[in-house]
Amino acid sequence: MGSQPRVIVVGGGVSGLVAAYDLSRRGATVTLLEGATRLGGKIATVEVAGVPADTGAESLLARRPEAVRLVDELGLGERVRHPGPASPRVLSRGRLRRLPRRQVMGVPASWWDLARSRVLSPRGLLRAGTDRLRSPVADVGDVSVRELVGGRLGPDVVDRLVEPLLAGVYAGRADRLSLPATVPGLADELTRGGSLTGAAARMARRSRQAATGAPVFAGLSGGLGALVDALADRGAADIRTGWSVRELARTPNGWTVHARQVGTGAATDLEADGVLLACPPTPAARLLEREVPAAATALGGIDTASMAVVSLAYPLSAFPAPPRMSGVLVPAVEGGTVKAITLSSVKWPWIAEALRSAHPGEELVLLRCSIGRIGAEPELQVDDTELLRRAERDLARILGVRGRGVDARVTRWGGALPQYDVGHTVRVQDARTALAGHRGIEACGASFDGVGIAACVATARAAAARLTEQVGLGEPAHRTNTTGETP
Ligand SMILES: Cc1cc2nc3c(=O)[nH]c(=O)nc-3n(C[C@H](O)[C@H](O)[C@H](O)COP(=O)(O)OP(=O)(O)OC[C@H]3O[C@@H](n4cnc5c(N)ncnc54)[C@H](O)[C@@H]3O)c2cc1C
Repeated sequence: MGSQPRVIVVGGGVSGLVAAYDLSRRGATVTLLEGATRLGGKIATVEVAGVPADTGAESLLARRPEAVRLVDELGLGERVRHPGPASPRVLSRGRLRRLPRRQVMGVPASWWDLARSRVLSPRGLLRAGTDRLRSPVADVGDVSVRELVGGRLGPDVVDRLVEPLLAGVYAGRADRLSLPATVPGLADELTRGGSLTGAAARMARRSRQAATGAPVFAGLSGGLGALVDALADRGAADIRTGWSVRELARTPNGWTVHARQVGTGAATDLEADGVLLACPPTPAARLLEREVPAAATALGGIDTASMAVVSLAYPLSAFPAPPRMSGVLVPAVEGGTVKAITLSSVKWPWIAEALRSAHPGEELVLLRCSIGRIGAEPELQVDDTELLRRAERDLARILGVRGRGVDARVTRWGGALPQYDVGHTVRVQDARTALAGHRGIEACGASFDGVGIAACVATARAAAARLTEQVGLGEPAHRTNTTGETP
């Protein structure tokens, strides 16, 4: 090994960029290969109606430190912006309703709050009340969200609250997502006895007590693309976009990576002391097949959901009244194509300000519609014009929006979100155990400890630290246990 160990990072989403940034600052010679022609993966900021609009991730969880700390470290602290006071609504039983005042991922912390929200029918509400009459759970085990929450509170709580909130994070289905993998705190709390509502109440109380008044979420003025640019600029990695890694093989001294240039088909073989995979589970599994087959099998078992985001700008006059909510969750049982609407310029005051300065004298509203969830792929198998038409139709039905937008943009996210289905925790553990048996190979990204950006940053930094140690650089690394918390 030379004086400066060579490391190859595969994937230029936030996870790969963070890992490359850390590894290069620790003294490795880093090459980052990204298959797409742009960096950022599921973070993308484009222009809609003359203002920056995030068409992938749009907010950072500020309650956990990793993402906001990185933003500060990169000198982006003064661009941090928080959401305004508007709250979201859920479309239920034909009307837009507030979420129960206290809830944990849609699990109500109080039956009275649930009743006041009017999200459920009287029958659904009565069923939810039977939770208190059921015997406590001794061991939650790896059960689906629907099995546990539906079993205790009834199907309506799952269909109208929990699944729409979880769908916002995973584009997943409650009958497949694992409760301990997606809401780990609640699964733990439930084993301490009492009802599910009681467990949610204890969690809600603790988070109220711990609340410092600091906002839970943060965005960046100008969009989250600034985080991608800063990571690429401040690190010292040699970043090559449009190079897709096709094969990975062990050599007597390290690893060789075979990559092809997208478009030209040109090929290259790169030698390295270490390789860090920061790509989605399917390509990661394919690359590991030959050298670490057990990790390939584990990661290959993680499914991904595809999505599309339709960003639209409308004149304020298209709305029956100025919108005051930050967004709308649309449960699958309410029908339609759109599963969530974010009223971006209501949620983020910096966007409203940007619209005002780009269009003086005109009042515009910027919003985005999220479409697609696991198992509903046919919804996405239409062209952009049709997807836009369906989004407009749902906006008319849900918000009463009339006419056409002044600008629109459709963004497709194929294989966007790893599914934390029942069995996920074991799959991740198996992948980690298999990788730990091989020197100079690590993996990180949204499949591991949470799909949110904060979780990706934490996992990438931990993987970079472990690899640093393996290739003989810098301070010792520690295996980090992170939680599956997501925004
Ligand atoms: C629509 C949407 C909205 C979201 N909103 C939020 C949000 O508001 N807040 C939040 O915290 N999270 C959000 N998320 C989740 C979050 O954005 C992602 O989980 C996170 O950005 C994933 O980062 P990553 O680097 O692990 O993976 P990715 O972003 O998927 O990056 C992996 C990269 O690897 C590349 N790649 C794949 N195969 C190869 C190969 N063979 N060779 C080279 N390169 C390869 C891909 O092209 C890609 O760029 C959202 C996700 C989506 C899709």
